[in-house]
Amino acid sequence: MVTIKSLIIAYGLALLPVLLSSSPIVPRYFHRILYSRDNITATTVKNELGRQLSNGSLILGPDNALYPNATERWKTRITPNTRVGVQPAAESDLAQIVKYCNDNSFDFLVKNRGHGTTDSLSTFSGIEINVEMLKGVTVHPAEKTATLQAGPIIGDVVNKLWDQGFVATTGSAACVGMMGAALGGGHGRYEGLYGLIQDNIVHYNVVLGIGTEIGKTYTWTQDKLETVFEALNTFHKSANGTTPPRMGVNYGSIVMNTSISTTEAVLVWPLNTLALVPTRKSSWDHLTPSRL
Ligand SMILES: Cc1cc2nc3c(=O)[nH]c(=O)nc-3n(C[C@H](O)[C@H](O)[C@H](O)COP(=O)(O)OP(=O)(O)OC[C@H]3O[C@@H](n4cnc5c(N)ncnc54)[C@H](O)[C@@H]3O)c2cc1C
Repeated sequence: MVTIKSLIIAYGLALLPVLLSSSPIVPRYFHRILYSRDNITATTVKNELGRQLSNGSLILGPDNALYPNATERWKTRITPNTRVGVQPAAESDLAQIVKYCNDNSFDFLVKNRGHGTTDSLSTFSGIEINVEMLKGVTVHPAEKTATLQAGPIIGDVVNKLWDQGFVATTGSAACVGMMGAALGGGHGRYEGLYGLIQDNIVHYNVVLGIGTEIGKTYTWTQDKLETVFEALNTFHKSANGTTPPRMGVNYGSIVMNTSISTTEAVLVWPLNTLALVPTRKSSWDHLTPSRL
């Protein structure tokens, strides 16, 4: 039997979603979107988002001549389905684009140099936000910091810093996106001296998935990544003595080399796989471990 009380409760519950989604106190991003728009085309995005973006921003569909370069990836087996590419000309556009995608239930993915090789990237289908135009690198010599936009590549950062007398852990391969590397930690030749790229970031400007911009300042303390480094250093010391701080990366292999032995494997460190911190000395000098 339905009592008046249970009827009121059931009725009240049925109303809850409506009340919530129309209430002025519920943030917009919690409102239910009752449809998923499947019709993402460059024309639609141009009409709806285009006028909110700064001059010089691009909106590219697959039939645009610039689309192949904008969506090209380092590894061709990684195949995100970029239905529309948006290339913002100013940092402030990022929040607008994210908000637009969120309002319309369009999945979005940031792309810079396209060196990401994670298989899950191939499951993406939606709007790619290409940050390649946001290449700003500004060095602040007095503070010993630099402000990077979303899209500089490692080579840009290395050169800009070097020209003003600075070095930092930046990653070793010039062609990789600096922020992509940083978001995964960021290995580089100077990491034995200064840690990962991530360790050196003091402030992030972040656009949240809901399109809100926030700034966050970080103070790296002992309980964070430094602890990981200490553990790694302890591991290196207990495993093989030390990893010289000036040696960023080295790749050794266990191989059969019949010119040395037909029955035993040998350990090989090819010279071109030793990534060392450059100094004025010739790189040959560095190949004596005691000098590193
Ligand atoms: C040839 C090669 C050399 C490499 N060398 C190094 C190295 O020396 N050191 C090292 O640490 N790693 C290295 N890597 C790994 C590299 O750091 C990662 O693959 C990195 O994710 C690539 O970033 P990207 O911008 O080039 O690629 P993308 O595929 O464009 O981006 C990679 C990921 O980061 C996200 N992303 C990129 N930029 C932003 C941003 N501004 N805001 C939010 N999300 C963002 C993307 O959405 C994507 O998920 C190398 C990879 C390759 C292929």
